[in-house]
Amino acid sequence: MSEGFTNISQVFGEDVFNDTVMQQRLPKKIYRALREAIEDGTELTLETADVIAHEMKEWAIEKGATHYTHWFQPLTGTTAEKHDSFITAPLPSGKVLMSLSGKELIKGEPDASSFPSGGLRATFEARGYTIWDCTSPAFVRHDEGGATLCIPTAFCSYTGEALDQKTPLLRSMQAIGEQSLRLLRLFGNTTSRHVSPSVGAEQEYFIIDREKYLKRMDLVFTGRTLFGAMPPKGQELDDHYFGTLRPRIASYMRDVNLELWKLGVPAKTQHNEVAPAQHELAPIYEKCNIAVDHNQIAMQTLKRVATRHGLRCLLHEKPFDGVNGSGKHDNWSLTTDDGINLLDPGRTPHENIQFLLVLCCILKAVDEHADLLRESAADVGNECRLGGNEAPPVIISVFLGDQLEDVLKQLRDSGSATSSIRGGKLRTGVSVLTDVARDATDRNRTSPFAFTGNKFEFRMVGSRDSIAGANTVLNTIVAEAFCEACDRLEKSENFDDAVHDLIREYATKHSRIIFNGNGYSEEWAKEAVERGLPVIPSMVDAIPALVSEKSVALFEKFKVFSKTELESRAEVKYELYAKAINIEARTMVQMADREYIPAIMRYIGQLAESANASAACGVEPIVQKKLLSKLNECLKAAREACEILEKETLQAEQKKEGPEQAAAFRKHVVPAMEKLRKPVDQAECIVDRSFWPVPTYADLIFEV
Ligand code: ADP
Ligand code: MG
Repeated sequence: MSEGFTNISQVFGEDVFNDTVMQQRLPKKIYRALREAIEDGTELTLETADVIAHEMKEWAIEKGATHYTHWFQPLTGTTAEKHDSFITAPLPSGKVLMSLSGKELIKGEPDASSFPSGGLRATFEARGYTIWDCTSPAFVRHDEGGATLCIPTAFCSYTGEALDQKTPLLRSMQAIGEQSLRLLRLFGNTTSRHVSPSVGAEQEYFIIDREKYLKRMDLVFTGRTLFGAMPPKGQELDDHYFGTLRPRIASYMRDVNLELWKLGVPAKTQHNEVAPAQHELAPIYEKCNIAVDHNQIAMQTLKRVATRHGLRCLLHEKPFDGVNGSGKHDNWSLTTDDGINLLDPGRTPHENIQFLLVLCCILKAVDEHADLLRESAADVGNECRLGGNEAPPVIISVFLGDQLEDVLKQLRDSGSATSSIRGGKLRTGVSVLTDVARDATDRNRTSPFAFTGNKFEFRMVGSRDSIAGANTVLNTIVAEAFCEACDRLEKSENFDDAVHDLIREYATKHSRIIFNGNGYSEEWAKEAVERGLPVIPSMVDAIPALVSEKSVALFEKFKVFSKTELESRAEVKYELYAKAINIEARTMVQMADREYIPAIMRYIGQLAESANASAACGVEPIVQKKLLSKLNECLKAAREACEILEKETLQAEQKKEGPEQAAAFRKHVVPAMEKLRKPVDQAECIVDRSFWPVPTYADLIFEV
């Protein structure tokens, strides 16, 4: 697959039932009806759906597809699918026909009882429906199982409650779309018809050798290493960041890109990240729900192609202690159908009143719902990363940069803003280098929510997590702020004065959320507390934000979640947390008992033999004795820690499912895991390399 020349423009979207294919294949009337459904949300008749389904099937079969699947995103964080072949019941002739009906395209019914529903349904109420999301194009995926037509869908229960990530996301897009349009109309825009969030998700990941991966039970079962001493060299030299790609990785990335392009995913940027073996892939931004789907496709492609190359892609947020973990930067802005970006300040933001209002509404939204945003990035793996001087702290704040901060200061201080700081020229002092324009504002890598030119970048999301949750929250909280602003402005007698007052009021009231300094510093943690900002250290502490009175009111008002749906989500998350930690704890005990402790004992045996041999020659075995004493200590500590961990795990398992159980895992099991890791990692630094039962950090991250 790696050979030859690729003409991107020819392969791009080759396996997607995109607009070009629709236009070519569908009768004009049907095409128009589908476009209307995509753009305006009108309903398709069954006859229209029948024609679309037929053409989609014909097209997919030409691409080699034998099956179709409703592709959906349950609350597991990944995607799910159930495959049906296109065949009909055999005819009297013994032959079969190929078919896909409109009904099959629009609605599917996977037996859904085994997906997390957080008590929304009992197991006997197994019905769940997948419903076609015609705004995200269908595609044919080629893999070891052949070719499959994937139809993006939403997933609901029999009674219409959302069981997935996509349904609330689409609802939130509707909410922000409506409120943004209201705001635009107030500013005299009569031409834009739709506004939707644009999203670009930068994806970080690790690549290691597959053979070595398979030798680590912890990586296989939990996606991260639960043991492992740091090698003499980590990431301190920063020599991996943006370094030249090693051939094996370059060839892997080439195949990843090719597959993504064929599936219409606009993969754009790739580079080595800070940690050894860590990399990043960024696509060009797209409409929010498509970006969410494409991020799922990107994660799956990264994994699938890795296997083919004898590699393993680790998407976990913290696969290796001691080196940076992985996240996802969720870049977010609001775009009209005629191409206006509501977050574009222009060259003179102080004169751009509409922009200033949008900005202040976002500040208000983030300030009032910081807990919800924090929750949207809460994920079991992300717990190991956030706040660790490598990723944003657990405190939500907004970085605006010098230029906007200055404009807002003018507004707060004197009621009006009369100037904007300019970027100017960047002078290098080297005559052969062209002077380039410098941005008006530097960047701040430590901020969880940073304004970066014409978009916000939410940097807290975990690398393995879906970006749907974070965007659902963002869309809804900003919709609420827009709605409140419009309510006031629509009633005002003097619009200009009212906008002005509103901007000043929000800029003043919510200035505590702005922080342009070093988010990793200890001073900031203290200052944030003084400012009254929520400091939410763990996922278990974050979940209650989902079901607070404030968020129930918010989500119900914009019909994004019902109270029941929110409660069910909270329950799913508690359960997810408890289960994940439980698996990690059990994996640790097994690895310790079956791999590390026996290995340490074998080496102790060898040392004892060597000590005896020395003594037999009349030489005092000083070194052996020292090592034996150290290793025996490690051994004892490890076995004791194992017992404690087993006991704590058992106790946590017996707690009532939900917040109580999750809290027990966090409070008692996680520290017990740390206690077990320590003596094993200590032993790793002493035991003869050839005795060590698993690949070490050095083997895993420095040798691909
Ligand atoms: P960096 O964060 O390293 O500066 P870029 O600015 O190039 O990188 O963009 C990072 C991501 O943000 C990319 O996926 C890009 O497509 C996306 N992006 C750029 N502009 C916007 C925008 N207006 N709205 C949403 N995402 C955007
Ligand atoms: Mg970025």
